[in-house]
Amino acid sequence: MRRVVALAVIVASGLLASCGGSSGNGGSGAGEDVTADSRDAAECPVRDHLAAEYNGRRRSGVEMPIDYAFLEARRGGCLPVRFNPCEPIRYVVNAALAPAGALDDLQAAITKVEAATGLSFVNDGPTDEPATTNRLIFQPQRYGARWAPVLIVWAHGGEYQMEPTNPAGGRSFDAAETFVSGVLIVNVDAVASDNGRTRPGSGFGDGTTWGRVFIHELSHIVGLGHVARSDQIMFPELGVQRGPAEFHPGDLAGLRALGKEAGCTPTPPLPPGR
Ligand SMILES: [Zn+2]
Repeated sequence: MRRVVALAVIVASGLLASCGGSSGNGGSGAGEDVTADSRDAAECPVRDHLAAEYNGRRRSGVEMPIDYAFLEARRGGCLPVRFNPCEPIRYVVNAALAPAGALDDLQAAITKVEAATGLSFVNDGPTDEPATTNRLIFQPQRYGARWAPVLIVWAHGGEYQMEPTNPAGGRSFDAAETFVSGVLIVNVDAVASDNGRTRPGSGFGDGTTWGRVFIHELSHIVGLGHVARSDQIMFPELGVQRGPAEFHPGDLAGLRALGKEAGCTPTPPLPPGR
């Protein structure tokens, strides 16, 4: 059985905490052309697009990419780590603490990510699996002989070292350089601004809305990291983002490279001795 990296490490070292819902300082401006050299993007999509931060750690000498970023690269440094787009990404939901309307926003966000990637998400139904600091990616007693589905769980973020200004945090886990599972913790105590009085709104409107939170976090789940352009969904500060919560050209270029268009990649075999 394979033991995954403890989520506590991730939270403490910043991956989750960096997805800020607070209004922040505005970040970098727009203005640069997001058009990538298409030939280079096809042959070596990760070149110049490796996230400056992954798994809570800064990559030394790596600048935050402008328009899209991949969280992790396969050996050789050219191909991003991603799910096998030729099989559905299965997920389970622990919505015991979810506020009214949250599941509608989640479902709408999933539909947007599916459209942008060609990936297919399949809801395997409710679970009582709690948010945890050391989730296993293979749990045959709970989920049978398969990789554990992605867990989406509403929880009190403070119990997982998430500040109230951090509405959610998620990541995926790989086996043999292919993502096979993941976890997304949604912070029920999240605030939309530093004054601590405003809750994120439902829907896909301006600033830190739950719809924006979900499409940002689901993009982390499929393998995108943070970018410097403040007009992209993958800019780390959600509160400064204006207009409808929808993907922009940089986001879309990154999501395409993680999805169906990039072709199938074998799903790794389960751990031996199951
Ligand atoms: Zn983020």
